[in-house]
Amino acid sequence: MKKTQYKRILLKISGEVLTGDGNFGVDPGVMRQIAREIKEVKSLGVEIGIVIGGGNIFRGMAASSRGMDRVSADYMGMLATIMNAIALQDALEKVDVHTRVQTAIEMREVAEPYIRRRAIRHLEKGRVVIFAGGTGNPYFTTDTAASLRAMEIGAEAILKATKVDGIYNVDPLLNKRARKFDELTYLDVLKKQIKVMDATAISLCMDHQIPIIVFNLKKKGNVKRVILGEKVGTKVRG
Ligand code: UDP
Repeated sequence: MKKTQYKRILLKISGEVLTGDGNFGVDPGVMRQIAREIKEVKSLGVEIGIVIGGGNIFRGMAASSRGMDRVSADYMGMLATIMNAIALQDALEKVDVHTRVQTAIEMREVAEPYIRRRAIRHLEKGRVVIFAGGTGNPYFTTDTAASLRAMEIGAEAILKATKVDGIYNVDPLLNKRARKFDELTYLDVLKKQIKVMDATAISLCMDHQIPIIVFNLKKKGNVKRVILGEKVGTKVRG
C-alpha cells in the first residue's frame, strides 16, 4: 500500500461542486463520482470527516441582500447543507461506504446530533462522518465550520474541494492568463483578500497551523493524489 501523507482529513465540499452543469441542486452523476473518489481514499486507510456546503440550494447572504431577515436566511442555508449531506450519504452508501451524518442543528429523525467524541469514535471505526448544518450559528459559513470541525476531530489537513485547479491571481474562469499559486501563506490569503475561504476560517487554520489544500474535485483521482502528497492544487500554510 502506498504511504499516505495524512491519517485523518477534513474534506470540505462546497454546494457549487455538487451541481454538475446546472447552477442549482444536486446532480446524481456528480454525487456518484464524488462517492467513488471518497471510497478510493478510504481504502488507503485514511479517516475522513466531511463538511458539506449548501450554496447550490440556498445562501443566506444572497437572500438577505434581497430583503430577507439575515438570521432566518442563514437558518435556511444551514438546512440546505443538511439536504446535501443526506444526498451524499445516499451516494456513499450505494458504493458500500459506511457513513454517519451529524447535524449542528438537531434533527433526530434524520441524523445524529453533532457530538465530538461520538464523531471521533465513528472515524476510528472506519466510518465517514458528514458534518451538516454548518456551525449551527447564523453569520458563519461552512468554511468556518470546516476549520472548526477539523480542529475538533484532530484532522491533519483541510482538503477544500472546488471546481478549479487551485488558487489563482485572478478568476481563471474569466481570464485565460490567470496564474495558479502552488503555495501561499495564511497571511498572503488574508492580505490579498483572496476569496478562497472567509477570513474567520483562514484565521482559525492559521492559529492552529492546519494546512489547507485547495484542489479540483472534478478531476478524477485528485483526492487520492492530495492524500499521497502529490503536488495538486494550492497549499495554504504557515
Ligand atoms: N450558514 C450559516 N452558518 C454556518 C454555515 C452556513 O448560517 O455555520 C448558512 C449561510 O447562510 C450560508 C449557507 O448556510 O450562505 C450555505 O453555506 P455556505 O454558503 O458556506 O455553503 P457553500 O458556499 O460551501 O456551498
